[in-house]
Amino acid sequence: MIKTINKLKINLNEKEVKKLNLDLLEKLYKKLKTFSNDCKECSDYLNRLEKHIQFLEENQYSLTKDIYKRNDELINDITTHLREGHNIIQEDYYTGIYTALGISIGSGLGVSIGLLIFDNIGLGIPIGTGLGTSIGLVIGANMDKKVKEEGRVI
Ligand SMILES: [Zn+2]
Repeated sequence: MIKTINKLKINLNEKEVKKLNLDLLEKLYKKLKTFSNDCKECSDYLNRLEKHIQFLEENQYSLTKDIYKRNDELINDITTHLREGHNIIQEDYYTGIYTALGISIGSGLGVSIGLLIFDNIGLGIPIGTGLGTSIGLVIGANMDKKVKEEGRVI
């Protein structure tokens, strides 16, 4: 199966490889395999993933929007199960979440900063957003570092 993924990586162009997230598919495949003996869901997902990879191989020269969508959905289902069932998460998972959170809280805070300090919302928003982004990044990156140390990365 890994062989098939590697063949796909060679045959497809860089953009397609990225869009199909083949590196991640390979990692997911390996992770599922380690759990498939003890977890019924993982062994079901492993089956689905194997069929999907075969399907990708058969359709590699006619990749449609629909195939990419199916691909994303399967990745999403598997990563959700690994996270909820096995506490295994994707690399930089928390960095993404906390940065997004920082941006949304920061821009809200920026409105207040703008109104209270500068009497100008337009001045406050970039400051708040910048602050929120940096704080979110630091918190998220720290959490990701911990996850990595614990060996809980896909
Ligand atoms: Zn499982």
